[in-house]
Amino acid sequence: MSRAARDVVIVGGGVMGCAIAYFLAAEERFDGSILVVERDPCYERCATTRSWGGIRQQFSTRENILMSLFGIEFVRNATALLAVDGEGPDLAFREQGYLFLASPSGVEVLRANHGLQRELGARGAFLEPDALRSRFPWLSGEGIGAAVFGTANEGWIDPSALLHGFRRKARSLGVEFLTDEAVAIACATGRLQGVTLAGAGEIACGALVNAAGPRAGAVAKLAGIALPVAPRKRMSYVFDCRTRIEAMPLTIDPSGVACRPEGGQYIAIVSPPAEQDRDCEDLEEDYALFEEIIWPTLARRIPVFEAIKLSGAWAGHYDYNSFDQNAVLGEHPEIGGFYFCNGFSGHGLQQSPAAGRATAELIARDRYVSIDLTAFGYRRLLEGRPLREANVV
Ligand SMILES: Cc1cc2nc3c(=O)[nH]c(=O)nc-3n(C[C@H](O)[C@H](O)[C@H](O)COP(=O)(O)OP(=O)(O)OC[C@H]3O[C@@H](n4cnc5c(N)ncnc54)[C@H](O)[C@@H]3O)c2cc1C
Repeated sequence: MSRAARDVVIVGGGVMGCAIAYFLAAEERFDGSILVVERDPCYERCATTRSWGGIRQQFSTRENILMSLFGIEFVRNATALLAVDGEGPDLAFREQGYLFLASPSGVEVLRANHGLQRELGARGAFLEPDALRSRFPWLSGEGIGAAVFGTANEGWIDPSALLHGFRRKARSLGVEFLTDEAVAIACATGRLQGVTLAGAGEIACGALVNAAGPRAGAVAKLAGIALPVAPRKRMSYVFDCRTRIEAMPLTIDPSGVACRPEGGQYIAIVSPPAEQDRDCEDLEEDYALFEEIIWPTLARRIPVFEAIKLSGAWAGHYDYNSFDQNAVLGEHPEIGGFYFCNGFSGHGLQQSPAAGRATAELIARDRYVSIDLTAFGYRRLLEGRPLREANVV
């Protein structure tokens, strides 16, 4: 069976797909039809619902800082912006900041990043070891050269609330959602033609957005496009500690171990060593990283965490861009109508408002209006010019 044509088809209805749908439907220059195709409407395996929901401005890339500054502005106004029939989502924003710790050899990079963040409008305090000790007495400063604490606009939200807020609002603006799977993408003479869905068959479309999260590389491949974005497993561990650390920020050790409070408990994460960090589809729980890396590191850095009790764990997939750990955004330079919104490598939740708005601007106006994100274009991959993000947590 062949369905009627659509102006825009978005493949993937996670936070990115729903954000793009919302911003495009709200665009005054756009009055076409929008279809979001999502194969798993329960969102059981997607990156969004397994995310930590963190939002920060502590990045090394100018565009990432600007995107997250818009992210926080959107988060603060989301209840009103995403309201339907007078009811908007509660994103449960906890503004407890990020605390990035640097070893003595990392101090100059930390200082330079902090300078760029401040220049662009982010708020944070650069802390020498003495200041760090007096502000966070529960922390061991051993091996720490300096730190930056985000004094405002950083913390974490409920990822599902943002996803469903975008989705509900997009529907109210006329966006159609379909439970189906994109299995083929047709392109001819440098132009996208349409998409084939496993259930609904062929759908002709003027534009298609790849918003398939960790599976973005597989969806690009359907159109014959090489995109180095694949699922990389990240284990999150949940633990209890009898001693409560009041207003603890999301704390990142120089080793890469990160930890924050979650309700009355704590959660911790670390990226696996590079040689073990492979593309993978499974969501099996694995406790080795907690025993071997996380717990020993936390016990040294936060002495009250010597006595903790592991109570659970969950696996999720980063939408990992192995080329330079940064987003790939915008229209394919040689296949008109094929758009990327991929590769956020662990910081896509907070960037979904900016990425959604940017993609909508490109489709509706053929240019970036709010933030120039040309640097994130696919062309850099074709030309072998990585734009590396240093602060990937
Ligand atoms: C453990 C963990 C912690 C994280 N912490 C943070 C954080 O603190 N801050 C932050 O900003 N980001 C964080 N992230 C990253 C963030 O969650 C992702 O970057 C973001 O959710 C990506 O959204 P998405 O919509 O692109 O992908 P997804 O949420 O994965 O959605 C993609 C959707 O596409 C669908 N799909 C795939 N292929 C097809 C197809 N062929 N046809 C139809 N549908 C298809 C999938 O079913 C899926 O629902 C974290 C991620 C993980 C795993």
